Amino acid sequence: MNRHVVSTSIMADPLDRIVDDRFKAALRKARDLMGMVAESRTLRDIVPGFQTQKGIYKPRDSEYALWIRQTTKGPYPDREPTVYPDGSWSYRYAPEAKNGRTDISLSTNRALLNCMDDRIPVGVFIQKKLSGFDTAYDVMGLAYVESFDGTHFVIRGEAIDADSEPMISDIIPPFQPFERLPRRTSNSIRLLREHAFQTAVRRAYHGRCSLCELGYSFRGQPLAIEAAHLIPVSERGTSKDIRNGVLLCRNHHTLFDRYLWAFDEDFRVMVTGDRMFRKSAANNCVLKAEGSKLPNLPEMQYDMPAREAIRFRLDRFHSNE
Ligand SMILES: [Zn+2]
Repeated sequence: MNRHVVSTSIMADPLDRIVDDRFKAALRKARDLMGMVAESRTLRDIVPGFQTQKGIYKPRDSEYALWIRQTTKGPYPDREPTVYPDGSWSYRYAPEAKNGRTDISLSTNRALLNCMDDRIPVGVFIQKKLSGFDTAYDVMGLAYVESFDGTHFVIRGEAIDADSEPMISDIIPPFQPFERLPRRTSNSIRLLREHAFQTAVRRAYHGRCSLCELGYSFRGQPLAIEAAHLIPVSERGTSKDIRNGVLLCRNHHTLFDRYLWAFDEDFRVMVTGDRMFRKSAANNCVLKAEGSKLPNLPEMQYDMPAREAIRFRLDRFHSNE
């Protein structure tokens, strides 16, 4: 059996429409690196063109841009990307300028407009404002050029489910707690989706445990920090929507998965009454947090854990007591 044909019939990956294999491989790479924070010397070795080019990179033989790279030194004030419940994000990107003037007819800007017209994604790298690391980039993954508003390109990140259109920003759809009956999903797509869910939840919580606010990373990869599902995947809880997630350190994730603590609809921490547990957890800050609100939550109301998911979790927590 031809595996390539099988995998494309399962899922319509937008990258499959791209004919140029090298271009496609480079985009796949940007998607695989999503969520990583890397120094530019590391990216130089793995991302084509990263060595020399800033701003928009258009390979010489291509009519499309391959990636964009936002540095903190740009002439325009840049804002953090906004994250949406489906894991997509939006970002406004200033076009290239010549002699200090925006010129949309520059070949790089035109290449981005071609990406917009033909719905070809681009890789996005955003320089991180991290003191002591002037050259670290946040690998945002793949994104579409949604529009050009006269002054900026509106860039829209892929959704967790890369074959769905990213959510429309001003119409946030209601939360769908459960995934439909499993369609035939290949292992690599499942892994990619899990990776995208982890990355999106991490972004919404700025990389820190919702309960204890600890966050670690090593060589650009987060360490011991995990997106927990409120409705577990084993019970068909969705991985396509970050409202079924909360970011926890590994310690608090383990206790959460055993229903030893939960939070209510006001995000107040509840801890099991099990006396043995409470004694053993004397040095764990979960007991200190009991009754108070989770200190680290997403900025945007629409990214918060969904009511239905919290209720599901509370039911399990109470029946476990
Ligand atoms: Zn924690």
